[in-house]
Amino acid sequence: MSPPDHKKVPLKIRLPFATPAEFIERYGANVARGGIFIATRAAKPVGTEISFELVLAGGERLMRGEGVVQEVSTQSEPGKTGMLLRFVRLEQRTKALIDEILAAREGLSAAAAPLAPASQPLPPPSPRIAPEPAAAEPARPKSLADDVVLGIDLGTTTCRAAVFLDGAPRLVPVGSAGSFALPSAVAVDASGQLVAGAAARAILVAAPHSAAAGFKRVMGRRARSRQMREQQPRLPFATVADMEGDTGLDLSGRTWSAPELAAVLLRELKAAASALLGREVTRAVLCVPAWYTDHQRGAVLEAGRLAGLEVLRILNEPSAVALAFGHGRGLARKRLLVYDLGGGTFDASVVEMTGDDLEVVSTGGDNFLGGLDFDDRLADALIGTLTGPTQAAVRGSPVALQRVRDAAEAAKISLSDAEQATVHLPFAGADPGSSQPVDLHCEVARGWLEQLTADLVDRTIEVTRVVLETGRVPTSSLDEVLMVGGQSRAPLVRQRLERLLGRPARTDVDAQGAVALGAALMGQALVLKERGKKGVTLSEVLSAPIGVAVKGGGFRRVLERNTRLPADKTLELPVPAAEPVRIAVFQGVAPRAEDNEYLGALHVVPERAGELTVRFSVNPDGRLQLSAQGSGGRTQVQFSTADASDETRAALLASAPLPGETEGQQGPKGLISGLKRLFSRG
Ligand code: ADP
Ligand code: MG
Repeated sequence: MSPPDHKKVPLKIRLPFATPAEFIERYGANVARGGIFIATRAAKPVGTEISFELVLAGGERLMRGEGVVQEVSTQSEPGKTGMLLRFVRLEQRTKALIDEILAAREGLSAAAAPLAPASQPLPPPSPRIAPEPAAAEPARPKSLADDVVLGIDLGTTTCRAAVFLDGAPRLVPVGSAGSFALPSAVAVDASGQLVAGAAARAILVAAPHSAAAGFKRVMGRRARSRQMREQQPRLPFATVADMEGDTGLDLSGRTWSAPELAAVLLRELKAAASALLGREVTRAVLCVPAWYTDHQRGAVLEAGRLAGLEVLRILNEPSAVALAFGHGRGLARKRLLVYDLGGGTFDASVVEMTGDDLEVVSTGGDNFLGGLDFDDRLADALIGTLTGPTQAAVRGSPVALQRVRDAAEAAKISLSDAEQATVHLPFAGADPGSSQPVDLHCEVARGWLEQLTADLVDRTIEVTRVVLETGRVPTSSLDEVLMVGGQSRAPLVRQRLERLLGRPARTDVDAQGAVALGAALMGQALVLKERGKKGVTLSEVLSAPIGVAVKGGGFRRVLERNTRLPADKTLELPVPAAEPVRIAVFQGVAPRAEDNEYLGALHVVPERAGELTVRFSVNPDGRLQLSAQGSGGRTQVQFSTADASDETRAALLASAPLPGETEGQQGPKGLISGLKRLFSRG
């Protein structure tokens, strides 16, 4: 925001509310997207330009912005005298607060409109608030459904939950601030307790070694994988291998698995939903990026289990967005592109809807691409404006780094609306020479941010192009383009996406809650199915190929990307004798097995020589199940998903029973003759 313009009448109001939650609860009805009714006996004339600031009882600023008096109400009843102020510009935090208020209203009102137009008309000038409100009863839904399934959006930066009640999906209030957003942060507090959400975020700034945020991007990732090794220096937390060989985190000197940490967030959401409904909710639909591998989906399931949830379904986030978008619209056949650029991950999916039926046509994404990367780029550039020794001091201090990242994120968000933002961080670091504290002060132009991040945007565009291409979806066949995820609000993102598609993208979608609401809709569909009734149906595709390592380290795909789920495919291997066969299974698009995600090793001990049939089954959640059948006798099969040691991995690759592409020919026939050759040789 620019400094207050002196032609505008300054107005500072101290509210009788102690917390934002209290304000939302007691005064929220007076706030709309476009303006606010301010109860005051000192109303200004219609047309007056006002620069306003509302502060809480304790003096903390709640809302700031500029507006014009649109209407004055002079009724004598208390609370009805005042003025209706139309917003002209708002501070970013104020916009966020208004989003919360509208979401709160949406979550509790009968008709949830997850993707409402961005601008809503102002409410009529009355009725208004009562300044001394009666003790507010928490809003309770009228009737409780027998079966409620919690829909959960386990976001990289923010988690949300929703339930289907009285005919509509509703967001669940979480935390003490009356909000629906639970920051995806977990920390160990001073007493050694695990805390989640805002409390954890506070610890993150003060004691970064005791807290973690954004760990969704390492969920279910092998600690020793090439990708993790590459990402590690850029992650804001220290990673360690957990007991499974997956990426875990070290908080306050103890190793936590990513599912253990995610479970803390899930428990918080579960408790919030149970409080809303007045009884325990135990069943859930959990959303994941469409690009999640089998192993990552397994990690999310494990998190659900640890949180005491029965996970009915793992749902891809873009499908959830499409479900929420389609709900109640009775859309005829439509083809949607869902472009979701969130905090840590990017997803692009093409979804086809026909009435209540949804089909994912093509999907892709990047697990290491999101708003956090944009923050890092800007934070890095900001640190670069300091003198050399101070830069080193800041980079060496996790606390200082976190503060710069937070400042960078705030500037980045305001640059989606403004051309210019000021970053001012007092005592960002110390000059090691003089030990004097150094402030970080920098004017950031939108163009600079765009220069720093254009390649990140281009990566999403490239992924989107590939998703369209592999799904054989010409851009002209798209009916709607839905842009969701907080980072998609950056103007450059819209420009580049529209340039690729040659058509405008929908920007009226308010996707804050769409994933959770869509998950709740899916939950409801499953409840209906249990009762033998028809609900929404959803059919997904495999987002990344699954295959096996072949001799020489290559990767042979067994199930291709975009294969419709559930899927089943068999691989035939001739086994010369009753020898154990070990096959390493991977998922990913890379031609080298090791560059893909290691899913596990299949150990088969057939009783006799002959043909061995390995069956790869992927269920609608994208989970892989392997089984093997020998040509006669009993075959022992074991699939171990724990990561293998370097030696075991090397041995697995060396002993791969399948020849590489150069040895055998493509296709099952060539494969089998190649195998026969191989086995007869030795
Ligand atoms: P997730 O689902 O991964 O938690 P969200 O969809 O909630 O992510 O988006 C969070 C990300 O969006 C954060 O990186 C945040 O900085 C960014 N973000 C939020 N609002 C804006 C905005 N107006 N402009 C640019 N980025 C934004
Ligand atoms: Mg998201």
